[in-house]
Amino acid sequence: MLHRALHQHNMMALIAALVLTRTAAYTSPRAPVVAGNWKMNPGTAEEALALAEALDAVEGREVVVFPPSCYLEAVARKTNKNVALGAQDACVLAESGAFTGAVSLPMLKMPRVDYVLCGHSERRSLFSDDDDAIRAKVRGALDAGFAAMLCIGETQQEYELGITDDICALQLAKALEGVTAAEMANVVVAYEPVWAIGTGLVCPATVAQRVHASMRQRLRATYDSSVADACRILYGGSASPLVIDGIMRQPDIDGVLVGGAALDAATFNQVSNFHAGWWRTRSFLKKVLHR
Ligand code: PEP
Repeated sequence: MLHRALHQHNMMALIAALVLTRTAAYTSPRAPVVAGNWKMNPGTAEEALALAEALDAVEGREVVVFPPSCYLEAVARKTNKNVALGAQDACVLAESGAFTGAVSLPMLKMPRVDYVLCGHSERRSLFSDDDDAIRAKVRGALDAGFAAMLCIGETQQEYELGITDDICALQLAKALEGVTAAEMANVVVAYEPVWAIGTGLVCPATVAQRVHASMRQRLRATYDSSVADACRILYGGSASPLVIDGIMRQPDIDGVLVGGAALDAATFNQVSNFHAGWWRTRSFLKKVLHR
């Protein structure tokens, strides 16, 4: 039932997006982030480099990709220098030592690697990263000079029970325990409903907006308005060129974290260039006015 209702909603959103694309504008003062999580892909270094090389940097937007750590250095050499990089995970147990298979934060200190992804639902469910582990990763990433991209989100059952806001607020509070207002400048939050990740089910933009506004309100209560107003809160879950314009028209949605659609450069570039009609007009006007 969730599937059919969301499908109908997404079709309506797509039609609305097609109608509105030419006039849509991103109006938030927060610079939008378009992030691509490659997960354990692509299968070869050659494919990773080809993907990296074809990525657009988009003026006024932060484009970030999270390749597997073994490709990071090579991807940094191949991508446009205005595309930022991040690590999908980091071991915070030690800087080096007997931790087979782990990669520590100092090892990730490479040129252009700015972010560490923390709390992705696949890390939570498949690798048993619990709230304490996620808090330690956020802490470690910030201490090591990285920005933390913190993922939160409810399961399908929690969504159907109507407890999304409570679950997300709890995950947010636990992960940010001890993080100061000043450090929040280096935290990006990604709201990723677990049921929307890799399923083709997109959370309706208006529902996501409500959750984002609620998380921003929590940040306002925990910190203050300046922290809440400055913090970028991204949406993640089957985002694609078909739905991006509608998502990015929501006032509290400051970007997207993309999985599947990040593995094809042309598709990811379309996502990065959301509201292209508006941006083309803006770039054109800028050129004309600066002549
Ligand atoms: C993700 O893994 O963070 C994600 C949002 O994946 P997808 O876009 O494939 O749903």
